[in-house]
Amino acid sequence: MKRANANRNTIDMNMLGVFRYSKRALELVWATSSQLTIGLAVLTLIAGVLPAAMAYVGQLIVDAVVAAMDSYQTTGTIDYFPALYYVMIEAFIVLIMSGSQRGLAALQAILRELLGQRVNMTILEKAQSLSLAQFEDSEFYDKLVRARRKASSRPLALVNKTFALLQNGISLISFAVLLWQFSPWALVLLVLGALPAFIAEAKFSGDAFLLARWRSPEFRQQNYLETLLAREDNIKEVRLYQLSKRFLGRYRDIFLKLFRENKRLIVRRETWGFALGIIGTLVFYSAYGWIVTSTVIGAITLGQMTMYLLLFKQGQGAVASSLTSISGMYEDNLYLSNLYEYLEQPTLASQIGQTVGPQPGDGIRFEQVSFSYPGNPAPSLNNVDLHIRPGTSLAIVGENGSGKTTLIKLLTRLYQPTHGRILLDGLDLKDWDEQALLTRIGVIFQDFVRYQFIVGENIGAGDETRFHDEDGWHQAAELGKATDFIGDLSDGYHTQLGRWFKGGQELSGGQWQKIALARAFMREKADILVLDEPTSAMDAAAEAEIFAHFQEHTQSKMAILISHRFSTVRLANEIIVMEHGEIKERGTHEQLLEQAGQYAHLFALQAKGYQ
Ligand code: ADP
Repeated sequence: MKRANANRNTIDMNMLGVFRYSKRALELVWATSSQLTIGLAVLTLIAGVLPAAMAYVGQLIVDAVVAAMDSYQTTGTIDYFPALYYVMIEAFIVLIMSGSQRGLAALQAILRELLGQRVNMTILEKAQSLSLAQFEDSEFYDKLVRARRKASSRPLALVNKTFALLQNGISLISFAVLLWQFSPWALVLLVLGALPAFIAEAKFSGDAFLLARWRSPEFRQQNYLETLLAREDNIKEVRLYQLSKRFLGRYRDIFLKLFRENKRLIVRRETWGFALGIIGTLVFYSAYGWIVTSTVIGAITLGQMTMYLLLFKQGQGAVASSLTSISGMYEDNLYLSNLYEYLEQPTLASQIGQTVGPQPGDGIRFEQVSFSYPGNPAPSLNNVDLHIRPGTSLAIVGENGSGKTTLIKLLTRLYQPTHGRILLDGLDLKDWDEQALLTRIGVIFQDFVRYQFIVGENIGAGDETRFHDEDGWHQAAELGKATDFIGDLSDGYHTQLGRWFKGGQELSGGQWQKIALARAFMREKADILVLDEPTSAMDAAAEAEIFAHFQEHTQSKMAILISHRFSTVRLANEIIVMEHGEIKERGTHEQLLEQAGQYAHLFALQAKGYQ
C-alpha cells in the first residue's frame, strides 16, 4: 500500500515535472539574449501557420485544375491562369517556410553557444562559493558532475522544445479549423492515433533519465580510470607496476555493465515505439479510406480530398512531434532539476565581518578546539590549546594521521571547529571579514598547486594583486632560493611549466617546491605563514637551510612548519608533538629532549639513521 502511494506520488511529480523548469529555462534564455529569444518566437509562429496555408493552396490548385479541365470540355478554351497563379503562391510559401526554418536553426545555434557559456560560468562561479566539506562529499560531487555533463545544452533544448510545441500547436489549430469542415470526428481520430506512442515515449524517457542518474558514480569511476591510463602524472607508475591491463579490464567491465542496461532500454523503447506506431498507421489509413469514399460519392471535391489528406497526414505528424516534444521536455526538465539542485546548494554564509581584532598583536589562539570531519565520527582534533605570538615560529610533529593538516585547515578557516574557538588578534576566526583574514594568511600545502602556467605566474599567484608584477617575482624567487634554476630555463620567468601545454617544461619535485616557497614569499602582506611539508623533496640540509632563511625573513610574522625532519624542526621557537588529534608534548627542542618523551625518542631514532 505504501509502495503504491509512493508510486503515485512519483507519477504526479513526473506529470508536473514536464513544465516545472520551462519557466526558468525560458528566463535563462531570455536573460542570455532577449533579442534572439524574440526572433525565435516570431519565426516559430511563422513556421507554425505556413503548413496549413500550403494545404489550403493545394486544394485551390487541384480545384482550379479540375475547373480548367471542365471548362475545356464544355467551351474548348484553355485557361491556365488560376491554377498557375496558385502554384506560384505555393512556391512563395515554400520559400518563406525554408527561410524561417534556416533562421530558426541559425538562432538556435547562436543561442546554444551563448547559453552554454553562461551556464558553465554559473556552475563554476557557484563552485567558488561552496565549502570544502561539500567538495569532499561524494554525493555532492556527483551533483556537480551531473550538472556539468549535460546541463549546458539542456536549457536551450527545453526552450526549443517549448517553441516546437508552440509551433506544432499553432499548426494543429489551423489544421483543426480546416478539418472541422470535413468532420469533428476526424479530429478525434487524429489525437487518438498518436496517444499510445506518446505514453510509451514519456515512460522511456523517464527510465533513461533515472538510469543516467543512477550511473553517475560509475561514470566517475570511468573518468578516474581514464586519468590513470592516459595522464602523464599517473602513466609512469601504472606502466611500471604493469597495471594497465587490470585497469583497462575494469574500464571495460563498467562499460559492459552500463551497456547491457542501455541496450535493453533501447530495444524496449524502439519495439514499443514500433508496435504503437502501427496503431497510428491503422488509424491514418482508416481516415484515408473514409475521405476517399466521401470523394467517390461526391460529398467533397477532388481539391478538398487533396487538402484533407494532406492535413491529416501533417496533422498526425504534428501531434506525434508535439507529444515527442513533451516527452523530451520531461527529460530536459529532469536534467535541469540536476542543475538547479546543484545551484541551490546552500553556500557559506556571506563572510562579512570585522577587519581588525580587539587585541592586535595577540596572534593566534586555539581554545579547546575539537573537530570531526563530516561522515567521520572519530575526532581528528581533540581539545587543542595553542598560542602563537607574532615573531615566533611553531613546528608541528606527529605521525601521519595525527591531525597536523587538519589543524592548518581549521586555522585557515577551510573548516569550522566542532567545539571550541580559534582567535586571531582576539577575534574569533568566524567573525573575521573573509578578505581581511585571507590576506593575512600564506599557506603552502603538501599538495600545493603546480599551475600549468609560466614560471612568473606560478610565483605571482601568491599575491593576486601582483600577479604580473615582474619585480615582485624576482624578489620572491630570490627569497625562495629559486633564482639559480629559473636562470637556466629557456625563457627564464616566461618559461611555460608542466607538460599539459605546448612547449611546457617539467621541473623536479624540489624545484617545484622552491617555486611554491617563492609563491609564499610573494604574499608580503601575510603575517601567518604555514609550510605543510613543502620541502620534503629536498635533502635535509637544504630543508634546514631554507627554513632558517625563511625565519630570518619573516621575523615579525608567525611561521608554522610541519615537517618530519628534526634538523629543521629544532630551529623553531616552539615545537608541539601531536598524537591522535591531541597535543602530547610541547616546548623548545632542548626542553623536549629533557622530557625524554616521544619527541626525544623519535629524535634519537632519526639521529641514528644519519650516523
Ligand atoms: P596529518 O596531517 O597529521 O597526517 P590529517 O590532519 O590529515 O593528518 O588527518 C587527521 C585524521 O583526520 C586522520 O585520521 C584522517 O583519517 C582524518 N581525515 C583527514 N582528512 C579527512 C577528510 N577530508 N575526511 C574525513 N577524515 C579525514
